[in-house]
Amino acid sequence: MDLFKQEYDIISKGEALLEEGGLSDEVSAKHYRTLLRHYRKLFSQLRHLVKISDIQQNDLNHLNKQLVRLSQFDPLTGIPNRRRFEEELNREWRRHQRLGIPLSLIMIDIDHFKQYNDTYGHSAGDDCLRKVAQALSVAVNRPGDFVARFGGEEFVCVLPETDSPGGIAVGQRLCNMIRLLAIPHHGSCVADYVTISIGVATLTCPAADNTIQEIITAADRCLYKAKASGRNRLESVFF
Ligand code: GH3
Ligand code: MG
Ligand code: MG
Repeated sequence: MDLFKQEYDIISKGEALLEEGGLSDEVSAKHYRTLLRHYRKLFSQLRHLVKISDIQQNDLNHLNKQLVRLSQFDPLTGIPNRRRFEEELNREWRRHQRLGIPLSLIMIDIDHFKQYNDTYGHSAGDDCLRKVAQALSVAVNRPGDFVARFGGEEFVCVLPETDSPGGIAVGQRLCNMIRLLAIPHHGSCVADYVTISIGVATLTCPAADNTIQEIITAADRCLYKAKASGRNRLESVFF
């Protein structure tokens, strides 16, 4: 709908009135004509200003979307970043604490990734990170399951309403997915292909006195154990 249509109609009616000689007093008619011309100009300028403001609003919306993407997604792999992971875990943590239901957290680290970069170059390393990120993301399938890049060659996975056997099953699936990718890694002493190590921690019944740091530390310790006991494996704990 044309903006200010009503106002333009009124002006047009005024102009028609003048045309028809509706104002007999020549001085008043002159003033009236000037007034209508100014009104027409004013509304045309207003219409222009509204158009500019619409364009600026669209640009602003576009920039806001970009900002959200930049603040929540990892630019290299395109999956959620650590900040988004922390928000997600915080939200799930509070919900699970309130309901007292099991929550599992998986920490994932690519084995001998420094060696991968040294063998194939940094750009190939970046490609590898993208492939691993995509494979991990598609390997989880429940609606609330969440995968993010934690940093470097580390990834995390939040599994809501998931007990220890469930967390271990998903962890094993993640390991298998990466094995299936079969990305050659001749610099690794673990396998000929890229592998990951995994730590799974499950808090069976989160209580008010549990802290979010507990489950992060527990998953991290399991990952460390998996690394120390040979890599390309999963260690788990529940409490
Ligand atoms: P481990 O099996 O003990 O995990 O050994 P690692 O070599 O994977 O671990 P380390 O922490 O020694 O090295 C991690 C490497 O990950 C070092 C760094 O160059 C690489 N890395 C981190 N972020 C990126 C990235 O964005 N792109 C690439 N190409 N490499 C990265
Ligand atoms: Mg690491
Ligand atoms: Mg590593």
